[in-house]
Amino acid sequence: MKRIFSHIYPLGIRWQLMLWYSIIFALLMVFSGLLFYTRLQTTLAGSLDTELQLQAQQIAGDITYDEDGDITAHDATADLPGFDPSGKVQHVPPPADVNLDILVRVLDKRGLPLRTTPAFYALNVPPESVTQPLHGLPWQGTISTADGQAVRLYSRALVDDNGIFGVVQVGTTLTQVDTTLQDVSVELLLLAPFMLALGGLISYWLTARAFMPIERLIKTARKIKAGDLRQRVPVPRPHDEVRDLALTLNEMIERLEQAFARQQRFVADASHELRTPVAVIRNKADMALMQIFTPDEHLTVFRSIYNESERLSHLIGDLLALAHLDEGHVRQKKEVVKLDHLVQVVAEMTEPLATEHQVSMQVAANNQVRICGDEARLLEVVMNLTENAILYNNSGGTVSLSVKSEDTQALLIVQDTGIGIAPEHLPHLVERFYRVDSARTYTAGGNSGLGLAIADSIVRAHGGSLTVESRLGQGSTFTVALPLSQ
Ligand code: ADP
Repeated sequence: MKRIFSHIYPLGIRWQLMLWYSIIFALLMVFSGLLFYTRLQTTLAGSLDTELQLQAQQIAGDITYDEDGDITAHDATADLPGFDPSGKVQHVPPPADVNLDILVRVLDKRGLPLRTTPAFYALNVPPESVTQPLHGLPWQGTISTADGQAVRLYSRALVDDNGIFGVVQVGTTLTQVDTTLQDVSVELLLLAPFMLALGGLISYWLTARAFMPIERLIKTARKIKAGDLRQRVPVPRPHDEVRDLALTLNEMIERLEQAFARQQRFVADASHELRTPVAVIRNKADMALMQIFTPDEHLTVFRSIYNESERLSHLIGDLLALAHLDEGHVRQKKEVVKLDHLVQVVAEMTEPLATEHQVSMQVAANNQVRICGDEARLLEVVMNLTENAILYNNSGGTVSLSVKSEDTQALLIVQDTGIGIAPEHLPHLVERFYRVDSARTYTAGGNSGLGLAIADSIVRAHGGSLTVESRLGQGSTFTVALPLSQ
């Protein structure tokens, strides 16, 4: 069976189905042909037997037995050709054709033949066909002639008031039945190839019809080229099995379209972000090359070029980090990270920035909280959130960092008393290059709007989530939830 499968495998589903349909159809045809043939055979044999019984009954009714022991056949049998009604046959005539002549024999109660039609002499009659009826049981069977022709024979007792006085045997040739059966089987065999071919064609048509919706899907899917993701495959009517496939494909195309659009927007935004510092550097360099400045002015120009290069390199670093995150390069390291310790480190590192912005830092990380992940990346996340909390704070404000564990989660909370974020901006904060107020951000810290996008990617790569709550003018709370290490 495996061999058959491996042979038909390269045919494709449609041809395989057609082949299977045809095989099943052929088997059904053979089965129904055989059934029809045997039913016909039994029906024909049954009607022949009934006919013989009627004939034997009719002949028996016309035969009488007198006291002298003479058996007389009356009118009905007198019509039988070659059957002498008046007396016993004196000589044995040559056997006539069993197919044309009537086959009848009458025997007395000793089993000796009294009347015999000429054709009957050609039969090989078994002795039990006489002995059994003499014991009161009719006998029925198929016998053959000397030249091998099949004949159906029926024997029954001749009975009057005194009991059994003889036997009557009636036969008929089976040639007719055999010819009919032969004709039928030839017709069936001749019809079979046509039926098979028709069955094959119908199954091909049916499978082609069943595959039509899939063909349509394939055609449309082929038309969808890269960049032309607005197209959708046709969705068949309800209750069609292909409908689910079409819907899934459409969902997939939609997701691809969104990803493609995001990618395009990202490239456009990145080029735009890169263009600004490059233009500033170029401008300043042009001015420096004019050699119209005093040494002090030159210094200012170069400092500004340096700052812009710093900004550029920061941006390129962020873009690279995002590209790596998109490729799934994060979490290569899986080490135990002490979050409480990490927060302390970040607080120390950002202390100078906090002092510069007159913001006071508070740390609540007294209990040990361990998670599994990449320490350097997680440091980047906490660093970014803390820097934002300081940068978008008011002078005299506070930034509090806390770490705690809750059920199976580690919670890292960065809270500030800063400017806050309006509700309409909250859903977009983790989008790449999204800034609430780009002018302010550009001058404030030279940030690009990628910090939260990177932080979110890192947290998600660790199986965690980054959420934000904020009230305009009152401050914001960023919460990082990460699975605790086992
Ligand atoms: P940036 O690098 O510009 O800081 P982020 O992705 O870190 O970009 O932040 C996106 C924007 O979210 C910022 O431009 C800022 O407007 C807003 N933001 C982030 N953190 C805070 C905060 N703690 N308070 C108020 N606004 C914030």
